[in-house]
Parts: sequence; C-alpha cells; structure tokens
Amino acid sequence: MHTTFNSWLVALSVAVAVFVSYTAFRLAARVTDEIRPLRRFWTFGGACVLGIGIWSMHFIGMLAMSMSIQLHYNVAVTLLSLLVAILTSWGAIRIAAVGRLSVRRLGFGALVMGGGIAAMHYLGMAAIDITPAIHYRPVWVGASILFGILASGLALGLTFRLRGNHSAHPLSRLGGAVLMGLGISGTHYLGMAAAHFVPGAASRGGLVLDSFWCAATIALAAGGVLACTLISDLYTTELAARARAHAGRLRQINAQLRHQALHDALTGLPNRTAFLERLGTALMDARTGLGPFAVLALDLDRFKLINDSLGHSVGDELLREVARRLRAAVRSGDTVARMSGDEFLVLARQVRSRAEAGQIAESIIEALSKPLRLDSLEVLVSTSIGISLHPGDADAQETLLAHADEAMYSAKRRGGRTWQCFAADMNGFTQERLRLESDLHRALERGQLELHYQPRVDVVSGRVSSVEALLRWRHPERGYIPPLAFIPIAEETGLILPIGAWVLQEACRQARRWQNDGLPLRVAVNLSALQFRESGLLHTIATALDAQQLPPMLLELEITESAVMTDAQSSVAILEQLSRMGVVVSVDDFGTGYSNMSYLRRFPIDRLKIDASFVREMNDDPQTGVIVHAIISLAHSLHMKVIAEGVETPLQLARLAALGCDQYQGYLFGRPASAASLESKLRAHAGLGVGESAATSTRLRRPTWGGMLLASNDD
Ligand code: C2E
Ligand code: MG
Ligand code: MG
Repeated sequence: MHTTFNSWLVALSVAVAVFVSYTAFRLAARVTDEIRPLRRFWTFGGACVLGIGIWSMHFIGMLAMSMSIQLHYNVAVTLLSLLVAILTSWGAIRIAAVGRLSVRRLGFGALVMGGGIAAMHYLGMAAIDITPAIHYRPVWVGASILFGILASGLALGLTFRLRGNHSAHPLSRLGGAVLMGLGISGTHYLGMAAAHFVPGAASRGGLVLDSFWCAATIALAAGGVLACTLISDLYTTELAARARAHAGRLRQINAQLRHQALHDALTGLPNRTAFLERLGTALMDARTGLGPFAVLALDLDRFKLINDSLGHSVGDELLREVARRLRAAVRSGDTVARMSGDEFLVLARQVRSRAEAGQIAESIIEALSKPLRLDSLEVLVSTSIGISLHPGDADAQETLLAHADEAMYSAKRRGGRTWQCFAADMNGFTQERLRLESDLHRALERGQLELHYQPRVDVVSGRVSSVEALLRWRHPERGYIPPLAFIPIAEETGLILPIGAWVLQEACRQARRWQNDGLPLRVAVNLSALQFRESGLLHTIATALDAQQLPPMLLELEITESAVMTDAQSSVAILEQLSRMGVVVSVDDFGTGYSNMSYLRRFPIDRLKIDASFVREMNDDPQTGVIVHAIISLAHSLHMKVIAEGVETPLQLARLAALGCDQYQGYLFGRPASAASLESKLRAHAGLGVGESAATSTRLRRPTWGGMLLASNDD
C-alpha cells in the first residue's frame, strides 16, 4: 500500500517529542530538589504530562502519514496506549529523580523508557482496526526498540552529568532533551518502517483521525499542557532560586551574627566568649596530651588617665592600635582576645615553661613600648602582664584566668610595664583588692588618710627648706598601707580626685601652721596624672591656698615625667597656668619615662627630681653616672634645680655633690615622718625653739639631725 508523509507534521511530531523530553527532564530535576510532600505531586503530574506528550507525538506521527485508505482506531486500545505512556513516564521520572545514577540504574532506566515508548507505539498501532492485520518486519521492530533504548540511555546519562552543575550552559541542557526526543520519534518512525500494510486492506469500525486540523489540535493541546507545565516549572525553579538566594543570605547573616557574637566590635579581636571557647578546646587538647599552654592577662597601665584626659575617641583609637600590635607580637597560633576596657587575654599554645611564656610577654611589652601616634599626639602606653600555666598552675578554666589576673595585679604593684608569673602566695589577691577598693571609698570620710613629710636637703649648705608630703593610709585592721598599694586603685576608680584635693588642703594647712610657728617650709605635693589633666585643678589649688591664706610659693607640685610627656602640648598650657599662679612645679621620677627634650625646654618647670633608681646605680654603673651628670647639666642650662631622690649612703651624696646636684632627699637624711615628729626632730636637733627665725641658722654640710638647720625659702 502506498504511504506518504507530510513533512510538516513529521517535523511537528519531532518538535513535540523534544519539547516533551525537555519538560520531563526539568520535572525530574524538580522532583529531586523538592521537599518531600511535593515530590509525589510532581512525579504524578509529570508522568501524566509526559505520557500525554509522548502519546500525542505518536498520533501526530500517525497523522503525518497518509495512505490510500482511511484508518479507524479502536478507542479502548488507544486509551490503553495512553496509559502505557503515562506509566512509562512515571517510571522514567522516578528513575531520573535519584541523586546518583549507577550504571545499573542507567541501564534499567533506558530499558524502562525505551521499552515503554516502543510498547506504547506498538499498542497504538494495534489500535488500528484493519484487515488483514499489519505485518511487521522483525529486524525493523528490533531496530526501533533498540534505538529507543539507546537514545533513552544516552539522554539519561547526559542529563545526569549536567544535573546540579549550575554553571552549565542552559543550551547544553537541551542536549539530553534532543537525544530523548529523537529517541521517541526515532522509535516511532522506525516502528512505522517495520509496519507493512497489506495492499487492499480495509479499516473500519473505530474512530477516524485523518484531518490536518486534528493533528494541529492534538499538537496544540499537548503543547498547551506542556507549556503550562514548563511555565509552572520555570516559575517554581525561579522560586527555588530565590529561596536558595535567601538561604544563602541567611547563611551569610548567620555567619555575621556568629562573628559579632564572638568578636569585639572595637578591635575586631575575639571576645570573652570566643576566648573561653578556645580555652576550653586548649584544655581538652592538653588532657589528650596535645601540649601545655599559657594564659596571659594584660591590663594597660594608666589607660583610664589617657581615656579620661584625651577623650574616648583617642582612647578607642589607642585600643585598636594596641590590638594590632598585640596580634603582631604573639606567635601565629596564639589567640589574642579583648575582655573589656583595656583588658586583653592571650592564649599561647605549646608553652612548656615560665621562661617561654615570659618571652612572649617580653615581646608584647616591647611591641607596646614605641610611642603611639594618635591624632597628632604622641602617647605612651605600657602594659602589665600576668601569666598562668596549664597544667602547672591550674586545671580549671576559671582558676587559670583568676591566677593570670592575680599575677597581673602583682605586676601592676611592681610599677607596671612588666610581667609576672602566678605564684601560690598571690592567691586571694583579687578579693583582697576588691576589699581594699571598698575600704578606700570610706577612708577619706573616716579620717584614715594622713600625710607624712620627708625633708629635702640642700647639698651644699645642708639646710632644709622644703618637705615632700607623702600620703599614708592608716587602715583600721591592716595598719599603714603604702601609697603604691592604693594610689593605682584610687586612679582607676577616680577616687584620686577627692583624695588629691584633700592632700592639697591638708598640705596647705600644715604649711600654714609651720609658717605660723616660724618654720617656713615649702610643702611639695604629688599630683596624680589624672589630677594634672582634670579641668578643676587650678580651682582646687586656688581654694586650698585661699583657705589658708598661704603664699603660693610655699606650695610645690610634683608631676611625674610620664604624666607631663603624655600629650606634651597640652601639658605646656597647664604648666603655664600653674606657673602664673606662683606655685613651684617639679618633674618627679625624671629619667624613667620617655622625655622629649624639645618640650622640656618649653615647660615652665622649676626643678627636676632624678629618680631614685639612678641614684642607686650611680656608683656601680659608670653609664648611670654619665646620665645623672647629663641631666644635671641639662637642668642647669634650662635654669632648673635638680633634686636627687632616694639618697641612702654618704657615698651617693658625695657623688651627687661632685656632679653639682642642688638638693637631695632620702633615708640618709630622714625617712618620711608625721608632721609632729618631723617638727620635734627639727626643733630638738637644731636646738631651735618655736618662733625662732630660720634666718638665725648657720651652715652645716654634714647631714645629721643634730646639725639640722632650716633654710629660708629662696632656693
Ligand atoms: P615619689 O613621689 O617618687 O616619692 C618618693 C618615694 O620614695 C616615697 O615613697 C618615699 O618614701 C620613698 N623614699 C624616700 N627616700 C627614700 C630612700 O632613701 N630609699 C628608698 N628606697 N625610698 C625612699 P612612698 O611614700 O611609698 O610613695 C611612693 C609614691 O607614691 C610616690 O613616689 C608618689 O609617686 C606616690 N604618692 C605618695 N603620696 C602621694 C599623694 O599624695 N598623691 C599622689 N598622687 N601620689 C602620691
Ligand atoms: Mg614625689
Ligand atoms: Mg619620685
């Protein structure tokens, strides 16, 4: 029988097959992506759509063929072929929707798909009511089935390779669909080639499908269903992409939140929580034999002063710079964390000895020792470091931290800028410090503070013209507490301001009384750096002087070198105001800090006090002798007087005299003593009665109480 093919309809059938396959693969991918309840929906819906698509392709292919007779179709068998198409599609989607495709599974999938397509085709052919029946050529039948299986296998394989590869070109995804489409239509047309219609055969009794419009309607319907599916699929893909983007953003926010929760906002260093986490890990590692470690507790010296006097933004910048230096100073695996304020912690892994931990501490101290430039200011910072070792000092996290803190406070008590390892006898210092702090709050109002006075002696004449007021705390339970044990606490808590004001008042009151009694001693008062920077300083001084009607020249203020050199520029202004008031100003502990000589020239300062450490070493170390000489010459060239502190031996005094030092102060002549005992000593040994004028005194070079004489205050 003569058959011809309408090439437009053939092309349409192939296009439908490709379109169907493309949709099917997308659906399969959707099924893998989707959350569970939706999977069934997509598998079922997809199978229906795909089945209808394959089936339509088959019928368009049938209609593309025109024969000399009209073909009649058995409706039941036709519907059965549709069911087979849907079942095949269902199986194929299930197989294609697995996460990984093994060779066996691929083979199985190809069999189901290719076999199913062929089954549908031959069932569809069987629906044709024709007598005599169609003859099939076995070779072509075999070829059509094999072709379907091979094409399905290739298409499945390709689709799997591309799955999940989001960077693959969208067109490359089309490759699988084209292969599959060719497989479906190839199976059909090879199957058609296998069919031999016996000439003269007649078809009747069933449904007639022969018009071009019928094909168009089927194609349109199939295309419509497929298009709807594809659109809804594209839409959900878009939704999924958005959901993925949201999830990505959420992950990012989560990571950010975690970073914030574990890091300090100001410096970017790990915070307390993060540090404790790592400390916990280190402890666990150490227990499993992964090595001992050290905890270093750091606290900046005088940070409160810098923060309060230079402003918080400068303080913040300083902390950031300190953080940078700390990170650079420690070894690569060590953790630097900021606890709060100016407190930092370092976790140093694989530290076996105190000496090793000490080396790390040294490099930190060294790294912080270079002046910091902040906002055109040059600021000096230093830190006190306490060290505790695991397993040597403690086993538990809290104890390790507490011990490092104790050691740090001990380093502070030693004057700061140093490190200290924990020792058992430090235990309890922290609680002790807290108790001391609360006691100090009440010390002033309960009258537990008093001033002792240490005479200063003229090196050449041996006369005493001034005394230094040194603060003492008479604690009801602990007896005398030395200033170095409580002044740092007073500075940290800000208590130094009311205490300092009291010292000024008390010193002026005593100076007035001595003056009234005919002992015109100038009283030198130590000013804390915090007081020096405080805006009410001039008012406090003026009030203290006025209250006693004391001539300003009988009051001297000692300010430490490091206090004046920190922000030297503003120091010049403060010092000029003090000098205009007429009070005497001296720089205490000179030589221990970092001095900018060009500023020293601009400071209106009356005298320099050479730190006791120079005096102590002067006779043993030639270098120190040279430095002392240089300081004295420098001071004299700037018209300043020089006082040596901590003079304990006649040899030291002799050397100072040889170097031209003006005055000295120290145990050699006398320890600090209460006003009453100082006065009675002065009077008894000098043989002076109250009211006797200092002008009647004679010169005496040897420093003994017996020969003690007063000088008038014109030095
Ligand atoms: P500073 O102003 O340098 O005072 C000298 C310190 O050396 C005093 O210690 C004094 O007792 C001690 N000293 C004097 N002669 C000798 C000696 O020959 N050998 C030795 N080894 N030491 C000697 P002190 O009284 O313990 O005071 C320590 C520091 O406390 C003072 O150092 C000062 O910076 C501070 N300070 C004392 N009173 C006050 C105060 O009222 N206000 C403030 N802000 N600070 C104060
Ligand atoms: Mg002093
Ligand atoms: Mg001093």
